[in-house]
Amino acid sequence: MIALSLAEIAAVVGGQTHDIPDPSVQVTGPVVRDSREAGPGSLFAAFVGERVDGHDYAAQVVEAGAVAVLASRPVGVPAIVVEDVQSALGALARHVVRRLGATLVALTGSAGKTSTKDLIAQVLRRKAPTVFTPGSLNNEIGLPLTALSATEETKFLVLEMGARGIGHIRYLAELTPPRIGLVLNVGTAHIGEFGGREQIAQAKGELVEALPSAEDGGAAVLNADDPLVRAMASRTKAKVVLFGESAEADVRAENVRLTDSGQPAFRLHTPSGACDVTMRLYGEHHVSNALAAAAVAHELGMSAEEIALALSEAGSLSRWRMEVTERPDGVTIVNDAYNANPESMRAALRALAAMGQGRRTWAVLGKMAELGDEALAEHDAVGRLAVRLNVSKLVAVGGVEASWLQLGAYNEGSWGEESVHVSDAQAAVDLLRSELRPGDVVLVKASRSVGLESVAQALLEAG
Ligand code: ATP
Ligand code: MG
Repeated sequence: MIALSLAEIAAVVGGQTHDIPDPSVQVTGPVVRDSREAGPGSLFAAFVGERVDGHDYAAQVVEAGAVAVLASRPVGVPAIVVEDVQSALGALARHVVRRLGATLVALTGSAGKTSTKDLIAQVLRRKAPTVFTPGSLNNEIGLPLTALSATEETKFLVLEMGARGIGHIRYLAELTPPRIGLVLNVGTAHIGEFGGREQIAQAKGELVEALPSAEDGGAAVLNADDPLVRAMASRTKAKVVLFGESAEADVRAENVRLTDSGQPAFRLHTPSGACDVTMRLYGEHHVSNALAAAAVAHELGMSAEEIALALSEAGSLSRWRMEVTERPDGVTIVNDAYNANPESMRAALRALAAMGQGRRTWAVLGKMAELGDEALAEHDAVGRLAVRLNVSKLVAVGGVEASWLQLGAYNEGSWGEESVHVSDAQAAVDLLRSELRPGDVVLVKASRSVGLESVAQALLEAG
């Protein structure tokens, strides 16, 4: 963080100082909410959670070197007391980003935010110091904490923004006003909470409404291949930059294919030139994510060569997203258990098929959540695709959705032994432990709520 005195922080957040002998003492950062991360120079934000109350750790964090606690009541150690710690954190973040010289890039979408944020960071940091959201900390607490971790040296601040309803992105964009706003896609994630795709588009589009005008440098980076995102162009005064595979995109991919090892390759076209990209990441859904990252980087002055090189070298920075590990016995585990939707299921299966040339392939799949009326048809389609791609074995894990996966496979071909339905993760592990042979490739994927990473974990340990 940039150094700020306790007096200045108290003024910015409208708080009262308590037990602070010298208000000119500076917080040099970081600002933390986990007491275990508090160290010299830090500011501890005390939140009252369901099970733990951060205020109970006040003495401990000061002992560890924290300068003060941002709290909602006096705690007997140096504290800035406010009515609401979350809004205080937001106000502090807004104050700090105004003083930073950094360019703010914000992104949202239904799927691929974290993957794309990691790609953007890996491209931009080749040009200048870049701070970005760790993991998926994309809400009203994670976002300010990330923004507060930027320093004077930071040139690019890349922020993932998540929305669970109307007004959420608008709020986040007020805390950390972006110059570049990227919308990836409008899918079905959290559709139950929103009420429909139009509402999701309404909520995500708040990002481009918040951008500065084109004259002031604002740029809305939009997915040309997603009609609901493409339509957001009419909601912004910023310059519109389109990415995608469609011909009208400013940044686009041609000749998209999967290499023998299952990694996407394509020719990247930006207004500054064209270059070939072969990704290290698995799954063709990353082509869209890579184009989005390329469009942002192009907007920030990077050449097609620089961008293509960075995309070709970029790895995954976040767990359980097409994480490929080879066991000592030659069994390859592809852990994509972080989440699933129909599009990424198809991408993952195609990557599995490409990796499986001459090897036995296993698709260990669980349900895709939040599909509403489309659930049966979508699970059926995934089961069918597994057969068409010649996956050797389908292991459908869980309840009724898993039986739809199996049914799809069964209906597509004359599959019998090739697909099995097991009730839970443990049953899948037991089955695979006895059946796997050296050289096999195993994909593990389902929606977050299924928690299939336990299967991948157990299989890795078994190797
Ligand atoms: P969250 O809302 O949980 O933060 P996210 O939007 O950050 O999710 P990621 O964590 O990047 O998304 O990816 C989650 C899953 O979505 C991945 O495991 C992958 O299966 C899938 N995915 C990634 N990119 C795309 C994409 N462009 N289109 C569709 N699915 C994608
Ligand atoms: Mg995320």
